[in-house]
Amino acid sequence: MRKIGVVTSGGDAPGMNAAIRAIVRTAIPKGFEVLGFMRGFTGLVNDEAKLLGLRAVGGIVHLGGTILRTERCPEFMTEEGIKKASKALERRSVNTLIVIGGDGSFRGALNLHKASGVQVVGIPATIDNDVAGTETTIGFDTAVNTAVEAIDKIRDTAMSHGRVFVVEVMGRKRGFLALEVGLTAGAEVILVPEVERDINSVCETIIRSRKKEKGYSIVVVAEGFGDSSKISREIAQRTGFEVRLTILGHIQRGGPPTARSRLIASLFGSYAVKKILEDDKSVVVGLQNGRINFNSLEFVTTQWKPLDTELLHLAEELAV
Ligand code: ADP
Repeated sequence: MRKIGVVTSGGDAPGMNAAIRAIVRTAIPKGFEVLGFMRGFTGLVNDEAKLLGLRAVGGIVHLGGTILRTERCPEFMTEEGIKKASKALERRSVNTLIVIGGDGSFRGALNLHKASGVQVVGIPATIDNDVAGTETTIGFDTAVNTAVEAIDKIRDTAMSHGRVFVVEVMGRKRGFLALEVGLTAGAEVILVPEVERDINSVCETIIRSRKKEKGYSIVVVAEGFGDSSKISREIAQRTGFEVRLTILGHIQRGGPPTARSRLIASLFGSYAVKKILEDDKSVVVGLQNGRINFNSLEFVTTQWKPLDTELLHLAEELAV
């Protein structure tokens, strides 16, 4: 019987469980056996896995996090670690490994594929949405909605007290989350790592909106843009307005996946398995123009996904 290994790796993202469920429930009726490796690549290196039956993935479609657990695995970045993982897969006769994670996980998976020849199918899952070749990733929509809901609450206080609120969202390297959150939460200013912005122009935008009788402001900052407490202090000093900082932190990573995150996870999981039956190339599943697509692991791990910076201007235009 052909065996599929499944692993969730890197930062957890809401919808990973829905993807595991979709994989298992697509694969078993097609005659596959599915093994879940525990705690990311650590479970591969240490050969720690459990058989996933149709009922083992029952009652998890609505749960955040991952039932297979996840952690970062420095050993998998060494030749020795890759060798141990290859041996574990060989010993268990696993022909295909499905990796649910972000671009770091796909880099590790590509190394494993090159060293062992095992087929790898990647499923993009990260709240950062920073995976090339797909317009969205599992968990992104949930994180956007969590942050927007939090900012809607913050806005009540900002309005009532006439304050500036600086809200830091996740995104150490990329600003996809900050951009979509900022635009849909009605922020006056969105600061992302991809676009330089000096503090004077930030303050000008805030002052301009006050002159238009808007009594409060929301500034959304991606954590990778810079030190948000310094930004808050500088805005206070330069504008004279009352400024408060909120760092949303890990609430953005958890919680039940939105319907859209569950849908993306179900599609990605199911199409990943179907791809294994069609051909045996190593690929990453994705969504482009609303349709399922596949890209090579090389493409996904080397391409820079562009950020639509036009949306930054749109956000400012709309938040007058
Ligand atoms: P994500 O998949 O969310 O980007 P990480 O960057 O933390 O998460 O990567 C998860 C795991 O993938 C790491 O613990 C490591 O085992 C492996 N990995 C990450 N980057 C690389 C790399 N450049 N080369 C090989 N393996 C990597």
